[in-house]
Amino acid sequence: MKPNSVLIKNAGWIVTQNSKREILSNKSIYIEGNRIVEVGNPKSEADFILEADHKIVLPGLMNCHTHSPMTLLRGYSDDKSLEEWWFKDIYPVESKFKSKHIYYGSLLACIEMIKFGCTYFADFYYFLDQIAKAVNEAGIRCNLGQGILDVETFEFPSKKIAFLIAKRMVRKWRKKGRIKASIAPHMFQTTSPETYEECAEIVRKYNVLLQTHVCESKKEVEFALKNYEKRPVDLLEECGCLSDKTIAVHCNWVSGDDIKKFSKYDVKVVHCPVSNMKLGEGKIMPLKDMIRQNLTIGLGTDGCASNNSLDLFEEMKTCSLLHKSHLNDPTAMPAQKMLDLVTVDAAKVLHEEDLGSIEEGNKADLILIDTRKPHLQPIHRKHTVLSNLVYSAKGQDVSDVICDGKLLMEDGRITTLNEEEVYEKVRRILLELFR
Ligand SMILES: [Zn+2]
Repeated sequence: MKPNSVLIKNAGWIVTQNSKREILSNKSIYIEGNRIVEVGNPKSEADFILEADHKIVLPGLMNCHTHSPMTLLRGYSDDKSLEEWWFKDIYPVESKFKSKHIYYGSLLACIEMIKFGCTYFADFYYFLDQIAKAVNEAGIRCNLGQGILDVETFEFPSKKIAFLIAKRMVRKWRKKGRIKASIAPHMFQTTSPETYEECAEIVRKYNVLLQTHVCESKKEVEFALKNYEKRPVDLLEECGCLSDKTIAVHCNWVSGDDIKKFSKYDVKVVHCPVSNMKLGEGKIMPLKDMIRQNLTIGLGTDGCASNNSLDLFEEMKTCSLLHKSHLNDPTAMPAQKMLDLVTVDAAKVLHEEDLGSIEEGNKADLILIDTRKPHLQPIHRKHTVLSNLVYSAKGQDVSDVICDGKLLMEDGRITTLNEEEVYEKVRRILLELFR
């Protein structure tokens, strides 16, 4: 028996998400250290055995876009346009955030993500060290995007300081364990083309990803046309910000030419259907057209202030229904593609080659779902497993979570964090904030 080994024994179903999209029945998974060593009928004993005969095992889900500390503003402002919501309601409160708000907001997000089976998130915020501290304690993975704006923020008084912090962050978190860093210029309404150019330099110098909000609202496109006489995607190209390292988030208002440019530069795209629908962005990201042009796409929840949850199961179902309805085509977004968007495809968006599927040699990020629930019964054949995951399951159905080979949740109980303590701390710091 090797130390730090886990055997997921006799799983009802293993949704591998391998290149053949195999779903295995009554097989086991042997994990040693932080890697999947064997999928099938391993003979090895392990120092922890997880009986899984009524459970579905699938890769840990990956959230390609969120703002984790914004869990603190869940439900604080709803039913408004993006501009009114962010500039008038959200940002004035965010600007009072101190390190402790970022830390506890992120801890709350980590609890929610673990409970809902998310083992990896791409974040876009400030005070990254505080988020990293929370993620380290929680045991999940992330890529932390250092937010960059031209205007003064609650983290930095000027753009110059913002870049100093950003460079420190990308150097500090470069290729280290479960946490990585990237650069995240906000959007053209708050961030100038010159700033975008500086961000592109950081991407080239440090070989990191660039996350940015693009063509989220009609107003953003109009702003770019009025002030710079170019559409946002053309501006990104001019600033040297289009490459395979670019993650373009939202993209509701992209044109056919914009999609061609994404394809030319192998830009990765993130779709946030729930947040975009809630903010009434007026257009829907042309997901089907983008898939046809072979773009690499992942799903994101966006922050809790606009979603208002971090449940990727809800995101998958909403995404499928939205596009089926919009395109008048029930075949438009099948269940398999939805699961791809939060596993294998998401791993490609985030440049994580050994995540997103259950295969020997991959990192051991796995989640389990107990099927002994009325809404997950019956299972007619293997194919029903996929259907149940996308159209019937909820985040709350996740029973166990393994990340980097470590058990973070067992039978619904998080092993790494004290939930009650975090809820109480969040309650107290918010009372202080709004006093
Ligand atoms: Zn966002």
